[in-house]
Amino acid sequence: MTTDHDQLTIHEAHRLLEERRFSSVELTRACLDRIRYLDERVGAVVTVTEELALRQAAEADKRIAAGDAGPLTGVPMLVKDNMCTRGVLTTCSSKMLESFVPPYNATVVDKLEEAGAVIIGKANMDEFAMGSSTEHSAFSPTHNPWDLSRVPGGSSGGSAAAVAAGEAIFALGSDTGGSIRQPAGFCSVTGLKPTYGRVSRYGLVAFASSLDQIGPLTQDVTDCALVMNAIAGHDNRDSTSAPIPVPDYTQCLNGDVKGLKIGIPKEYFVEGMQPEVEDTIRAAIGQLEKLGASIDWEVSLPHTRHALAVYYVIAPSEASANLARYDGTTYGFRYKDGESMWDTMEKTRQFGFGAEVKRRIMLGTYALSAGYYDAYYLKAQKVRTLIRREFDEAFEKFDVLVTPTSPTVPFTMGEKLDDPVQMYLSDVCTLPINIAGLPAISIPAGFADGLPIGMQIIAKPFAEETILRIAHAFQQATDWHEKRARI
Ligand code: GLN
Repeated sequence: MTTDHDQLTIHEAHRLLEERRFSSVELTRACLDRIRYLDERVGAVVTVTEELALRQAAEADKRIAAGDAGPLTGVPMLVKDNMCTRGVLTTCSSKMLESFVPPYNATVVDKLEEAGAVIIGKANMDEFAMGSSTEHSAFSPTHNPWDLSRVPGGSSGGSAAAVAAGEAIFALGSDTGGSIRQPAGFCSVTGLKPTYGRVSRYGLVAFASSLDQIGPLTQDVTDCALVMNAIAGHDNRDSTSAPIPVPDYTQCLNGDVKGLKIGIPKEYFVEGMQPEVEDTIRAAIGQLEKLGASIDWEVSLPHTRHALAVYYVIAPSEASANLARYDGTTYGFRYKDGESMWDTMEKTRQFGFGAEVKRRIMLGTYALSAGYYDAYYLKAQKVRTLIRREFDEAFEKFDVLVTPTSPTVPFTMGEKLDDPVQMYLSDVCTLPINIAGLPAISIPAGFADGLPIGMQIIAKPFAEETILRIAHAFQQATDWHEKRARI
């Protein structure tokens, strides 16, 4: 193969596959080779599905030859390891599910297979998606391809790092409080968290069910639209998925942002934020202004400052309920030498879960326990409503809100591992969006000393098209998204 495949987007790969410049089998082999060559250092992939991938690629080549190829047909990709893949390990990067092989596919996986995408493996993550650095993987941490001594963000750090390193052309991630956008920002790729209910969660291992969403991590906004076309939509098997028709997300990529109203909420330029991040995002917003959008720099969302506290009551509460199923009786790890049923359950959880997961379970169990429920969980739900209303009001005036994705550039590995609150703070800009169930994207907006900085664009529910339109216009006018990590 002559093409430098790690430069390829989905739309470029599609064109070259259609032109028979290479086959899907060749492209797939190239990605598999790159994983073999690079992943010892990056640590983005937990399971390589070589046989399955080559079979799917051969099928894709037949479809291409028959003139029956869609935009994703034959394109190699990774699935975050918390989405069920039939016959393929789905570990959530946890000892608890180290040998779990699901008998069914997540809906998104079915949809991607129907579209002809080639699944080359499963991406590393923080255990059960709890974390912001992918250092909480029970297997090994993932490294940032831009600087291997730094974290790629999390919890979809494997997905983001793999795309940034050219190990896969795109990946799926999940986002409960920032886990698609923050790693996208840290690895200089494009990551969209769709509106809650836009994409089916069937087959996604649940972390916090009222917050979790699946979305794409890609090289650019066009690719993001192509993946959304394939995965969005109602699903009878997920009662929280919305019965709202799916538009063709590529239709809104028309470069036209003239007259769009953009609000800049000042609370997102938080105290303690890295000055280079603030400068870069202000410059990027200036670019949007040049393209014809009107900017209001003085928007205020005062309830935002409670979002972190609300999240760390609601998410652990839901997690403590969702993770109760891992008790050694149904599936996953089971402690062998228990003295009684209770002892087996206790030890299963003691040895099966890592420290961060246990911390969340304890926080959640406490917040839900008798006497504390009203003070913590119920109160958090009330504040959640206030946060959502505040966004509703803002979207009466503005088409989108723009903020940094994170307050800092990627931090050094180990830096925040012993300080959970510092780790939690790296999601201050992304968490409120999940609390309100909104769609938001992170796109590359610049660098500080060679380290990526992401810009977040937020819209009202089901206005993904507005986000994609603005993000695409930005990418037409800039080349941050074309810069590739050289490793
Ligand atoms: N970092 C946040 C947490 O640890 C968000 C994780 C996520 O979005 N899955 O909970």
